[in-house]
Amino acid sequence: MLQTATNHNANQTDLAVQRCINPSCGASFESRSVRTSCDRCGDLLDIEYDWDRVAVPASLRGFEEAWSQRTNPVRFSGVWRFHELLPFAPLEQVITVGEGQTLLQKANHVARYVGMNSDQLYLQYEGMNPSGSFKDNGMCAAVTHANMMGAKRAACASTGNTSASLALYCSATQLMRAIIFVGSGKIAYGKLSQALDYGALTVQIAGDFDDAMIRVRQVAKELGIYLVNSVNPFRLEGQKTIMFRVLEALNWEVPDWIVVPGGNLGNSSSFGKAFMELKKLGLIDRIPRLAVINAGGADTLYELFERRGVRWNDGNVQMDPIIEYNDIMDRESIKADTIASAIEINRPVNLKKCLRALEWMNGVVRQVSDQEILDAKAKVGAGGFGCEPASAASVAGAKLLRREGLIAPSDRVVCVLTGHELKDPTATVAYHTTDQELFNKTLGSRGVSKASHANRAVAVPNELDDIIKAIQLYA
Ligand SMILES: *Cc1c(COP(=O)(O)O)cnc(C)c1O
Ligand SMILES: [Zn+2]
Repeated sequence: MLQTATNHNANQTDLAVQRCINPSCGASFESRSVRTSCDRCGDLLDIEYDWDRVAVPASLRGFEEAWSQRTNPVRFSGVWRFHELLPFAPLEQVITVGEGQTLLQKANHVARYVGMNSDQLYLQYEGMNPSGSFKDNGMCAAVTHANMMGAKRAACASTGNTSASLALYCSATQLMRAIIFVGSGKIAYGKLSQALDYGALTVQIAGDFDDAMIRVRQVAKELGIYLVNSVNPFRLEGQKTIMFRVLEALNWEVPDWIVVPGGNLGNSSSFGKAFMELKKLGLIDRIPRLAVINAGGADTLYELFERRGVRWNDGNVQMDPIIEYNDIMDRESIKADTIASAIEINRPVNLKKCLRALEWMNGVVRQVSDQEILDAKAKVGAGGFGCEPASAASVAGAKLLRREGLIAPSDRVVCVLTGHELKDPTATVAYHTTDQELFNKTLGSRGVSKASHANRAVAVPNELDDIIKAIQLYA
């Protein structure tokens, strides 16, 4: 089921380099090297290809040919069947566990809730990945690079899904040991249970995600452990394919809007890169608009982009407002706090790349409350296959943008549902419960006051007549 690295082939010249995203630096480094920032200026790195030497199909339809090769696990993969658009590793060296078999659902019940015309709202279910979240798209790419580099240990800090994904790739391939850092009490049980079950070394830091992130970077450097957080530029290459599959499902038509929850901002960053590259290669003629949705309790991007006017600005990002806001968060001890644990992040590592994606995709940022997130989540469940709380931020955000009139009812909108319904059953059960105490403890403490779309269990005595009466009353 998986392909492992062979020795470095001397005839194989790299098609890729790691390039600093800061245009006034522009330093480049070998793709076959391990780094998560620019040696010269410390900025983030991109993977850049020598497209003239890549055999990219003349049109996106050319990728349909990979379908006929699906008995080859590499072409079965929803990531690697687009290998020509992320060719940093030779095809014989890529690692797959069958990621990317996801669905784009036309969701008319949800469209009505959002205020869209029929047939115009689509949900991209990334929870259908092997570990239950979109993270597998990126993890297969990061693990491929780690393996090329001969890594025997890989680490990440995580709000849960990155660690579940890394742990799964390590258990399924047996190529390396997973070491995961989680904040204490800040991880949904579905996700923690995966990391434990898949045998990852699980380090629980007395702190939150932002603390765990700082520590894992220190430890990875100190011990020479391969880091797979989304500061890893190879991971973001894999995540581009989410957009390729959206286009594929729309018969290669470009939608009007992509709406995605924003946490560490890796996804939004990779979407911007994906569309920019497709445009440059002449494979699409226009780029959709991007909406990144923060949770109100973790809204750093919203604060910086919408309130303080911070822009990519051709790479000349004004750092003063960013430093100033970080100082405020320090001084006032502002900690991220939302039921949407996957986006409970206040210091997004990919901030600059996301600003760049917002510029390339003429994007906007919005924030939604936990109440709006959970109501939207209930609607996704009632009209589709369900999702975890963070994912529903995209639907709540689309509803808000519809209300503002920025999204028209006739636009074609794709909301990315990043994680599976079963990742966080606690939030779901608390929303639908009749137990007021459970509701208050789990959700009330987050400012959620009502569950307008709750589907409550009906309690009946153990009597046939009562049971029949109840069913006739409710269904
Ligand atoms: C990681 C994650 C996010 C946040 O994605 P970023 O790329 O960090 O912005 C959102 N939803 C789910 C379910 C996730 O696992
Ligand atoms: Zn640099």
